[in-house]
Amino acid sequence: MKKLVIFDMDGLLIDTERIHDWSWEEAFKRSNLDIPTSERQTLMGLGHSHYMNQIRKLVGDDELADDVRNIQREIYHGYFRENKPDIKAGVVELLLELRAKGVVTAVATSTRQASAEAYLRSVELYDLFDYRIYGDLVVETKPNPALYNKVVSDLNISKENALILEDSYHGVKAANNAGIDVIWVKDFVDISNRNDISYLHSFDSLVEARETIMEIVDNYDMKEIVELIRAFIKERDWDQFHSPVNLAKSISIEAAELLECYQWSDDADVEKVKDELADIMIYALQLTDKYGLDIETVIIEKMRKNALKYEVSKAKGNSKKYTEL
Ligand SMILES: [Mg+2]
Repeated sequence: MKKLVIFDMDGLLIDTERIHDWSWEEAFKRSNLDIPTSERQTLMGLGHSHYMNQIRKLVGDDELADDVRNIQREIYHGYFRENKPDIKAGVVELLLELRAKGVVTAVATSTRQASAEAYLRSVELYDLFDYRIYGDLVVETKPNPALYNKVVSDLNISKENALILEDSYHGVKAANNAGIDVIWVKDFVDISNRNDISYLHSFDSLVEARETIMEIVDNYDMKEIVELIRAFIKERDWDQFHSPVNLAKSISIEAAELLECYQWSDDADVEKVKDELADIMIYALQLTDKYGLDIETVIIEKMRKNALKYEVSKAKGNSKKYTEL
């Protein structure tokens, strides 16, 4: 399961990347520089600490790079002095749904604190995040993993329990570098042809991504389920009643209750069957846990034994016990 969802800002929460790209296009044009679109777009998602190097690479001259950067800044900030950024579709709904589930929400952006906070407040997203971190508060911005590493360490949440949402190549790369699961939500630059990054899923918008994000958030693995059961018992101080023999009896009692679902009819109420199955498995997991065993290993080992006892060539289509095969 995921306890934390980390959002990128530009191009994911707010529609700034388009203006950003346009401001570069304009700045290059005004400086009489002919930079192809694909090269210009290598600037997307880069933080300030990587920015100047990439611009110098593109224009080939340090002084000129500074000049173009100043022109671009003026165009970009000039635009946002006059206009509020547009919020991307589905952002608010997703944040509210995650928070209602108790999932921690964070924003991690390469943009500097002053600008980023102004944007987040202007679209009323600021208060929907439990945690915020900005590009000028870490040593290196994306694709360096520093921003993401700081989120999980400050919140004391393990990387396995975190999920990142990103729109840019450099952002996905930063998530990969941090070793945290990431979903790529497309903004307007296609990065599907980049083969040095990986992501769990890709979507055209957060609206389309919502269902999968919620499924991933809710997807508990077996260890997390055992943790859940342990916590439930500890809170109620019930461990004193759960000796191995009590648990073994309980499994059998719950199995009988499962059978009761079929007492007068071959068609049981599936809702009742679900409950009884859950009870059987919860007690079985508790008993496994009592002996310090790992349920997945226990099942896999027994499946291997079963496969040896019931060779396909002898057992196929046959219900006899292995001793009679
Ligand atoms: Mg972005």
